[in-house]
Amino acid sequence: MFGQLQQTIEQTISVSGVGLHSGRFSKVSLSPAPVDNGIVFRRKVNSHVETCQASIRNLRPMELCTAVGSNGFQIQTTEHVLSALWGLGIDNAFIDIDSEEVPAMDGSAAPFAKLIQLAGILPQERPRTYLKIVEPIHIGDDNRGISILPSPFPKITYTINYDHQLIQQQTYEHEWSAVEFEANIAHARTFGFSHEAEALRARGLGKGGSLDNTIVFTETGMMNEETLRFPDECVRHKVLDLIGDLSLLGINVIGHIIGKCSGHHLHTQLVQAILDNPEAWTIVGPAEKPVPDLADLEDSLHAMPVPANAAF
Ligand SMILES: [Zn+2]
Repeated sequence: MFGQLQQTIEQTISVSGVGLHSGRFSKVSLSPAPVDNGIVFRRKVNSHVETCQASIRNLRPMELCTAVGSNGFQIQTTEHVLSALWGLGIDNAFIDIDSEEVPAMDGSAAPFAKLIQLAGILPQERPRTYLKIVEPIHIGDDNRGISILPSPFPKITYTINYDHQLIQQQTYEHEWSAVEFEANIAHARTFGFSHEAEALRARGLGKGGSLDNTIVFTETGMMNEETLRFPDECVRHKVLDLIGDLSLLGINVIGHIIGKCSGHHLHTQLVQAILDNPEAWTIVGPAEKPVPDLADLEDSLHAMPVPANAAF
């Protein structure tokens, strides 16, 4: 995999829909970007366009989703579109958005992945740089945590455990490749529980949630007409979320991530911990690619999102 070229998309593509938490309609456009650009959100603020790098240094505290913000604007529920880009190997892209939340679409990353493939994936003139893990990093505890270990190739092993007859304990192993992502991860939908819906709305969350964009489990089954896309769809969605959150590192990682009953809060803590522990990794690839700027990260996580049990 070393020496692989950076990639962008060939043309601009757009999609619109309702945000899961805000309930607001928004339009998102993905556009090509130059080498070493990374993934950058853009939004028109008054008469000019502001930008926000999809980076851990721009992480904003938010319950149940991952939000980034800078230059006077904030984008929430970034994880599914970022997962589609990162999962399909897109290093560089602009994401233009006209509201504060990425549309939920069907609750998975598949609509974004399909658009990216329709737009075309374009190899660029510069090779990718990788961050290779050489020492383990652990976050959390035995019941609920996330680790990254040295590995010759990128890999994710995720385990969840819910006391529900359609979930129970599920473990999924994802070998990192665009083909694997498209076939086995991208289509897995967000899930939640009917008894939590009212409490969520009372906290101003989940306003755009519906059976069209969320699997809703009841005490004994599920409310959606569409059955589960995979028997272990829930754990696959957690892998999807992790890939999106991991993109905030801004560089491809070579390591084995092991998640256990984790969530966005721990995912982003792991990203921060990687950057905080430079002895645990080495950079592999062209020397001219800037290493993530550690100095910029000091002010990044003053207030972390509150851990929550719900699965959005
Ligand atoms: Zn999700």
